[in-house]
Amino acid sequence: MICRWLVGLLLAGLMLLPAAAQDTPPGVTIHVVQRGENLFRIALRYGLSVDELAQLNGIADPGNIQVGQRLLVPTGDSVEPTSQPLMHVVQPGETLRSIAEMYNLSLDDLAARNQIEDVNTVYVGQILNIAGQPAPTAVAVAPAAAAEELAPQSLIHVVQAGETLFRIATRYGLTVNDLARANSISDPTLIYAGQQLIVPNVTPPPLALDLPPIVTALDIMPLLLVEGQSGRIRLTTAQPVQVTGTFLDRVVHAAAEQDGTRHTILVGVPMFTAAGIYPLTLTLADSSGQATPLNINVQVLVGNYGSETINLLADRSGLLDPNVENAELQLLQNLMGVFTPTRQFSGPMGLPAAAAMTSWYGSKRSYNGGPFDRFHSGTDFAGAPGTPVLAAAPGYVVLADTLNVRGNATVIDHGWGVFTGYWHQTEIYVHVGDYVTTGQVIGTIGATGRVTGAHLHWELWVNGVPVDPMQWVRQSFD
Ligand SMILES: [Zn+2]
Repeated sequence: MICRWLVGLLLAGLMLLPAAAQDTPPGVTIHVVQRGENLFRIALRYGLSVDELAQLNGIADPGNIQVGQRLLVPTGDSVEPTSQPLMHVVQPGETLRSIAEMYNLSLDDLAARNQIEDVNTVYVGQILNIAGQPAPTAVAVAPAAAAEELAPQSLIHVVQAGETLFRIATRYGLTVNDLARANSISDPTLIYAGQQLIVPNVTPPPLALDLPPIVTALDIMPLLLVEGQSGRIRLTTAQPVQVTGTFLDRVVHAAAEQDGTRHTILVGVPMFTAAGIYPLTLTLADSSGQATPLNINVQVLVGNYGSETINLLADRSGLLDPNVENAELQLLQNLMGVFTPTRQFSGPMGLPAAAAMTSWYGSKRSYNGGPFDRFHSGTDFAGAPGTPVLAAAPGYVVLADTLNVRGNATVIDHGWGVFTGYWHQTEIYVHVGDYVTTGQVIGTIGATGRVTGAHLHWELWVNGVPVDPMQWVRQSFD
């Protein structure tokens, strides 16, 4: 590692020399191929075609370039790539060392600019100050693109006191009109501190991957995890491996596809997880027994969930008895903590009822004046008794039974550790073992169990954790 770093520094030093002192022709710069880069990506970065770049470097097979290979890149008038970012959002697989190398900075310099004392604590999504100016408060919205794609993406810029639309636009190489249009701003003088602006078509900064050689791609979606929300970690490996690991004190399960070279880990961040940086600790074991550790620091943010007070009728408040609650919860945890390796779902989930949503996942709850130490573990749909309840995605029914708190309850296993639950139904139309499809009527809305009125309470569990089901309606995790 030290040797590689030294080589990096030497190369970096070379690139800093004035053009005349190098043995490269004028109007040409050198690009050192980084891990995860390909010729297409490099060409795109410098505004060239793959053919131009291949021809200039005598490369017969554009699919075959090596990490560390030095490529001649014609520069025209400008020597630097078009966008020299002032900030760098740490992507999965990057380390402070690899980022420092890429920007021709020393590790100490980069650490000092960002007040980082322990260089191993850098985390995915962290915004690093590259230029020695105050770090901007912009966060990448899109996850890291796969290595082959370098599509421009959008960023969110949080407006700071004293900033103008002009200044913000200039900083991202946009016109005021571009920025105003992207945000539907009719009067460019009317922006406010704290406002979140969409910055369109920003060329993402290049990656500075520092992954074990066996890992060829790593992606985390979303980059910043939030309590109560789900995340997907996906890695591709050069050869078949078995992936095991832990996150937030839970064993995670990797679904293996493509002959054991593509691995998907779905995680749920439990509610009440404190904001902070948490390690995702993985081990990649190949068939010869060789084990490669892979540790990724992931940021968890606090969710913005509200609170509500629930008053239960006297004849139902006996159901708050902890013994009744715990036994039922234990049953569900055992049922939904299982990992089924075959994925049944694809694309975003459907809604479980054609009815109004009246209460969302995550709101902190107080029952009959008690403390706000519980949270709403699902989303409620208020529908008249008899309104159809629909399966949100394909899967196998693993529970169809009457429970004390949850009333007539159905649970569907969608594979990969993903389950949906449907509580308080009047009638259940399915049986354990049935295979159901998206939109299939599996029961009717009712008022059974601990309720204040007829509604469907819909839950979604990932790896044994109840999470916000609506995130799964908005986005796809397969
Ligand atoms: Zn509910």
